[in-house]
Amino acid sequence: MPTRHPNLTTMDELYAPTLKETPAEAELISHQLMLRAGMIRKTASGIYSYLPLGWRVIKKIERIVREEMDAIGCQEVSLPVLQPAELWQESGRWPVYGPELMRLTDRHEREFCLGPTHEEIITALVRAELRSYKQLPVTLYQINLKFRDEMRPRFGLMRGREFIMKDAYSFGADQAALDADYAAQEGAYRRICERMEMDYRMVDADSGEIGGSVSAEFMALAEAGESEIVYCDCGFAADTEIYDQETCPKCGAPLHHARGIEVGQIFQLGTKYSEAMGATYQDEDGNDKPFVMGCYGIGVTRIAAALIEQKHDDRGCIWPASVAPAQVAVLALDAEGEVAEAATKLARTLAEAGVEVILDTRAERPGAKFADADLIGCPWQLIVGKRGLAAGVVEIKKRATGETHEAPLAEAANHLLES
Ligand code: ATP
Ligand code: MG
Repeated sequence: MPTRHPNLTTMDELYAPTLKETPAEAELISHQLMLRAGMIRKTASGIYSYLPLGWRVIKKIERIVREEMDAIGCQEVSLPVLQPAELWQESGRWPVYGPELMRLTDRHEREFCLGPTHEEIITALVRAELRSYKQLPVTLYQINLKFRDEMRPRFGLMRGREFIMKDAYSFGADQAALDADYAAQEGAYRRICERMEMDYRMVDADSGEIGGSVSAEFMALAEAGESEIVYCDCGFAADTEIYDQETCPKCGAPLHHARGIEVGQIFQLGTKYSEAMGATYQDEDGNDKPFVMGCYGIGVTRIAAALIEQKHDDRGCIWPASVAPAQVAVLALDAEGEVAEAATKLARTLAEAGVEVILDTRAERPGAKFADADLIGCPWQLIVGKRGLAAGVVEIKKRATGETHEAPLAEAANHLLES
């Protein structure tokens, strides 16, 4: 029986060089586990290559983000990474952005930077052609590489110098339009976090050097987080840098303290960029008005790390089903004979039913297969062994809890499809 199917990968073929030892360079558990599970490799400080398992996770996060952006009517574009200095001079940010901006010069001595964010590019893009109030509002987004020469690019994907971000930019006629766009993004961000089963809080934020006034950050709760937040069961949450009281301003209850990883931030920019760069539209009376803009970023690669920080144990990653590299690991405890055949058939059945499977029929000890399956962290494991097979059963293990139960071989696929 052929094993090849788009939903089926075998450990024999998979390029996932797993490590038994914890790499000394990695401090954070997410960094350690991504290296150990063969998901990423460091190319240079803060710069990573994604191996097949890691890239699958990234693509799934991207897909969720893309679906939620499309669902609120945003349109996907792709903007250049290489950005001319002139546009940054127009916005006024070229002299003030500082050493985080990766600057370079072409053969004609023209200055460029590698984009850390895209307000200049997008404002210049629309200013010539988005002209009438009738065309508004418009929100454009991309999922693309960003470059920031971070002072301390430690912690793996958490703080890279090259990383993937979804950034969206809204153009509206007035503050009411911006309020609506901002609310739509907030809703989309909440759904993105929920679909990834992330424990998160949205906190009011100071909008920093990007400008504008209203802003919120989405924080994944985790000990490794760099931010300290307070939150209340009623829904209130704030960064302790902004809010330093011990009781909730909404309901008076005592606040909980937690650490958070910033996974996303939404800003009301207002007319900062449109005014600086002369990006205007004509209103109903023919008057030129600056666009009222918002920008909305979410860190795709940082989310992968944040999810591991939230969901792991001492054996490895525990991926939520929506972003897991595969749904099921099928382990054949023998590399050959009827056990391997039954496992292959089971894997094939699942793959054909639309489930992504990693099949392990390697000539390895069972212990090595269990260890790798736990490390990689697919939500389910199906374990096929000689003894079970003689009784016509396989073991089904839930990675998150370690709970196992047996199911008749013929029904194992259905058991999983129903769970
Ligand atoms: P931080 O305060 O952590 O440096 P930031 O506030 O500068 O982040 P934003 O400009 O708000 O980041 O970018 C939007 C999102 O991009 C962040 O919420 C985060 O998820 C992600 N991000 C920012 N910097 C990095 C980085 N160096 N590596 C990975 N992801 C990043
Ligand atoms: Mg931010």
